[in-house]
Amino acid sequence: MIEAGVKLAETRRRVRECEAFALQLKLGHDLKDGAILTSLTEQPFEMSFKCSRCGVTLWFEDKGSQRWRLHAESREHGAQICLGRPADDSSGQRLCGAVTSSVHR
Ligand SMILES: [Zn+2]
Repeated sequence: MIEAGVKLAETRRRVRECEAFALQLKLGHDLKDGAILTSLTEQPFEMSFKCSRCGVTLWFEDKGSQRWRLHAESREHGAQICLGRPADDSSGQRLCGAVTSSVHR
């Protein structure tokens, strides 16, 4: 169990060192550790990181040889500049209400 934990921490470090991860930091995201998917051999092959500012979750996938890339499903989020935390939650809800109430003829 302890060995698996060490392996995960090691993999976290590798992901944080890769180019795809560095790019997200440049876009302003503040990524915190999230969920990990491992194979049967307990080798991590997908890892998620959550931005503490805008709340977006980005997945990274193992492309082999310790190279990690942004997962295809996360690319549309990952290509965007961090929008930061909304000023307050109620304004975010008001915005959602405006969107849902915008009627089509
Ligand atoms: Zn962000």
